[in-house]
Amino acid sequence: MEKKDIKSLTLEELEREMAQMGEKPFRAKQLYEWMHIKMARGFEEMTNLSKEFRKTCGERYLYTTLDAVRIQESKIDGTKKFLFELDDGNVVESVWMKYKHGNSVCISSQVGCRMGCKFCASTLDGLERSLMPAEMLEQVYGVSLLTKERVSNVVVMGTGEPLDNYENLLIFIRLLTDENGLHISQRNVTVSTCGIVPKMKQLAQEGLQITLALSLHATTDEKRRKLMPVALKYGLDELMEACAYYFEKTGRRITFEYSLVKGVNDRLQDADELAALIKGQNCHVNLIPVNPIAERDFVESDRESVYAFKNKLEKYQINVTIRREMGRDIDGACGQLRRRYKMQA
Ligand code: SAH
Repeated sequence: MEKKDIKSLTLEELEREMAQMGEKPFRAKQLYEWMHIKMARGFEEMTNLSKEFRKTCGERYLYTTLDAVRIQESKIDGTKKFLFELDDGNVVESVWMKYKHGNSVCISSQVGCRMGCKFCASTLDGLERSLMPAEMLEQVYGVSLLTKERVSNVVVMGTGEPLDNYENLLIFIRLLTDENGLHISQRNVTVSTCGIVPKMKQLAQEGLQITLALSLHATTDEKRRKLMPVALKYGLDELMEACAYYFEKTGRRITFEYSLVKGVNDRLQDADELAALIKGQNCHVNLIPVNPIAERDFVESDRESVYAFKNKLEKYQINVTIRREMGRDIDGACGQLRRRYKMQA
């Protein structure tokens, strides 16, 4: 029988496990604290539990920890990028960013991705597999332990499509924000999606207070389909409807991500179209000049176009920020570090 991954269990599930083992219920709480607050690296560290009990746990359960096989630090802005190795030898990347309002970790939700966005390095080799809740948590815990700093924000914006790993994502969010665990505020958690409409609607109904970011990148179906294959399945009409529904259900305003590609989606006319498209949405727009990847010939917008685009949107009273391009010197864009590592191996 395959061992259960203990760090992916909720406290209630762990309590049931303890009952089955004939252990007292408070054992579950002790284990949970060791895993999710003290971030223990293994059962052997759990010194207030008997040796025998720790041994039994080791036999019964899988205990996921991720080791960093590479760490890169940006000389420009202090951003750090971590490459973590999983039990099966796959690697995933996570990014640590320091902001005035707190420290943020960007995590991966899958090994690779099957969404096929044309500008993205994570999807070039397709999807390897989805991550378990513990593997997502461990990226946060690992970064926190290695930087020795408190993490206040978590963004699921690394490699993978989080809504393509829906069940595990939800368990991850519940564990991460659980008051018995690390207790990150739900409001400080952002999930970014390329736009899987039915899952966006489902997420709206989960009673969570997280932020949903939609990777929009284009203002017409025709243009979006050229950049993002997922647009062949879901049109902008239903996508906008799903965003409005998310706000209606959660009261959380949507973030629209818009990567600017020179000559493709960065003209002033595109800004006008974008304003018309998101009119009436309670939202925020994040602009980011596309990060060029070697395998494709997309070119990033120049500074002037980016600022002109921003000004145009602001004329329509739209909240807009230009996302700081952090860690450019360390393969900042999704999937670039992992890719380079794999090619060298
Ligand atoms: N699959 C999810 C989350 C991962 S991608 C999603 O699509 O939202 C995180 C963000 O980075 C998305 O907005 C994605 O479109 C963007 N992105 C990917 N590659 C990029 C690149 N080379 N330059 C700029 N943004 C990129």
